[in-house]
Amino acid sequence: MTTVAVLGGGMVGVCCALELQRRGMTVTLIDRREPGQETSYGNSGVLARSSLMPMNNPGLWKALPKLLSNRTTSLRYHLPFLLKNIRWTAGFLARARGRAFQETTTALDALIRLSIDEHLSLMAQAGALPRLRDNGWLMLYRSEAGFDAAAMGRACYASYGVRSEILDPGALAEMEPSLSPIFHRALWIKDAHSVDNPSALVAAYAQLFADRGGVIRRSDLRDVIPDGSGWSVTDTDGSRHQTDRVVVALGPWAPEFMSRIGIHVPMGFERGYHMHYGAEGNATLARPIYDTAGGYVLSPMEQGLRLTTGVELTDRDAPRNLSQLTSATSAARQAFPLGAALDPAPWMGRRPTLPDSRPIIGEAPGRSGLWLAFGHQHIGFSTGPGTASILADLMTEAAPAIDPAPFRPGRFLH
Ligand SMILES: Cc1cc2nc3c(=O)[nH]c(=O)nc-3n(C[C@H](O)[C@H](O)[C@H](O)COP(=O)(O)OP(=O)(O)OC[C@H]3O[C@@H](n4cnc5c(N)ncnc54)[C@H](O)[C@@H]3O)c2cc1C
Repeated sequence: MTTVAVLGGGMVGVCCALELQRRGMTVTLIDRREPGQETSYGNSGVLARSSLMPMNNPGLWKALPKLLSNRTTSLRYHLPFLLKNIRWTAGFLARARGRAFQETTTALDALIRLSIDEHLSLMAQAGALPRLRDNGWLMLYRSEAGFDAAAMGRACYASYGVRSEILDPGALAEMEPSLSPIFHRALWIKDAHSVDNPSALVAAYAQLFADRGGVIRRSDLRDVIPDGSGWSVTDTDGSRHQTDRVVVALGPWAPEFMSRIGIHVPMGFERGYHMHYGAEGNATLARPIYDTAGGYVLSPMEQGLRLTTGVELTDRDAPRNLSQLTSATSAARQAFPLGAALDPAPWMGRRPTLPDSRPIIGEAPGRSGLWLAFGHQHIGFSTGPGTASILADLMTEAAPAIDPAPFRPGRFLH
């Protein structure tokens, strides 16, 4: 029987492990932590068809002068990082228009649709359906100008058939009565789900994998080296694990790992923070909201109301900068009666982003048996299952459920 080692136990790796196991392979899932403790832990838990629009979209050009001020809550950047990674920066900007953008939205739409179907099936199998809400999410606009500026997004959603509805303040108040009446309009994305604890969902999928005989190993990985017709995975204490195939699903740590085998991955790190808050009185939220002017998402979670920040483009491990979280929290307090902060310290994660905002899914060029699944930017929590489906189809030479070409590793790896 074919043996596979899946490196990385985030949403992407766990879904790959489950799917390859389903296809009859003997799978070991390896992570230095418990599954779902890194990027897949702290996200907003939104699974939305509207996420087909990447950050590098044609609207970026108009917003650029404001964004370059480096004062907006939605985006901050560290210039030396952008200059040091000029290939990524130039590639990211170049793809914010024209055919590349079109190809990305089409590819991501297919991946998201496939993934949502797969998530619903996996949640049922893992007994995790009680974590799911299917009441959409809300994009909120504080002014007519803000609403108008988002017209391109609405046109894009409409062209892909994403179900949505524009709400006036009255309709918004009916839907979310605890919001302050500061929003001029809202867009209710109906084609969206959310969960109340992303990390617990990854853990439930990992448990399903283990219940079906999968092995989960805790190990700090160092390297992979060719070994006969397969691969040898080594960890930092020198132990080795021999396997026929390897899947690298290390999220933002993938470039560091790949560089050890001589493969350069042009990845940007879109860092984001979260903090949980209580609510004053009986205030509640029924679904996640995105305050577009405030630059944050507020999601009801098991742990409290999770406020997640926009993008901080910098080195993966640069010192924390809490200025976005501070401004986002002030903006959120205008919108909702937030109570006290509930965590001892803010959480920080890194959205792993390739220049065209599409993940890499497939076999590494020239390295037979080395498979790759990383670079899922803002949507890896949603698109883990679809990624696993494509990867398993390619590995078993089955007809892929969707076109895998937009995700081929050869776009950036040689
Ligand atoms: C603030 C924020 C909000 C977000 N909101 C959403 C959202 O609402 N919806 C959505 O779909 N996505 C969202 N995302 C994006 C999503 O969280 C990521 O795309 C996704 O979690 C990436 O999953 P992954 O499995 O690739 O990476 P990870 O979850 O980071 O998994 C990688 C794993 O590799 C392991 N690892 C790394 N190096 C080693 C090593 N040397 N040895 C052993 N193990 C190692 C890590 O421990 C980790 O478990 C958000 C991200 C952020 C930061």
